[in-house]
Amino acid sequence: MGLEVKNMSSGYRQIPVLKDIDFSIEYGEIVGLIGLNGAGKSTLLKTILGLLIPQKGTITIDSHTILDDHSRYAQHIAYIPETPVLYEELTLKEHIEMTALGYNISVEEALKRAEPLLKIFRLENVMNWFPIHFSKGMKQKVMIICALITDAKIFIIDEPFLGLDPLAIRDFIALLKKRASEGSAILFTTHMLSIADELCDSYLLLSNGYLVGQGNLTSLREQFRNEDASLEDIYFAMTDTKAPLSVDKGDG
Ligand code: ATP
Repeated sequence: MGLEVKNMSSGYRQIPVLKDIDFSIEYGEIVGLIGLNGAGKSTLLKTILGLLIPQKGTITIDSHTILDDHSRYAQHIAYIPETPVLYEELTLKEHIEMTALGYNISVEEALKRAEPLLKIFRLENVMNWFPIHFSKGMKQKVMIICALITDAKIFIIDEPFLGLDPLAIRDFIALLKKRASEGSAILFTTHMLSIADELCDSYLLLSNGYLVGQGNLTSLREQFRNEDASLEDIYFAMTDTKAPLSVDKGDG
C-alpha cells in the first residue's frame, strides 16, 4: 500500500514529457526525485497531484485512483510547492484555519498541532500578519506548517529547501524524518544532493522524462555499475543517460 505509478506517461497538450514511468513508494519511505532542469520532475509531481491527467497508465494511492474518489485522494496528499502560494487576504492564523477545513480537522486541533511548529520556525508572534509582510523563507515555512498539521499520508514536496535558512533546513529535515517514522510517505525533488543523501531512503532518477534509475544508493551503484559511486557520481552518470537502463532494479 502507498503510492503506485504504473506504466504512466504524462505531459502537456499531447507532448509526452514523462514516458512509461513505473515506481511505487511505501508508507514510511522518504524518496528523492532527482534530475536536471527540465527532466520532468515537476511534471511528475503535478500528475500525482491530479493537476495533469496521465496520457497513459495509472496512479493510485492505496489502490484508488483520483477518479475513484477525488476528495479522499486529495486529503491523502499534502503538497508543498517550490514557490509558496499564499492568500494575500488571509493571515497566517487564517491559513492554518483554512487548511483545517480543507483536510477535515477541527480548527482547534489544527492550531494545537501548529503551535510547536510555529515555535520551531519562529513564527509564533506573527500569527495575525498577512503574507505581504513575510519574507520568502517565512512564506515557505507557512506552507510547511500547513502541510505538517494535516493527516496526509503522502507528502509531495517540490524543491523545499531553497528559500530556507540553515537552521530551518535542519529543523525541516528532522520534521520530515519524524513524519516518515510515523508512517507517512515523502516524495520530494531537490538539486541539493547533500541533503538528498542525508534524508532519502531511496531515489528516483529522471532524465529526459525517463526513469533511468531507482532504489537506494546500493541499488543505484549496481544499476550504474560503479560500486564506489557517490550520489553525485551517479547523478553525473545519469545525466548522460538518454533512455532507461536495461538493468535489474535491485532490492532498493
Ligand atoms: P526544474 O529542475 O527546472 O524545476 P523539472 O525537472 O521540474 O525542472 P519540468 O518542469 O517537469 O522539469 O519540465 C519538463 C518539460 O516539460 C520541459 O521540457 C518543459 O519545457 C516542459 N514543460 C513544463 N511545464 C510546461 C507547461 N506548462 N507547458 C508545456 N510544457 C511544459
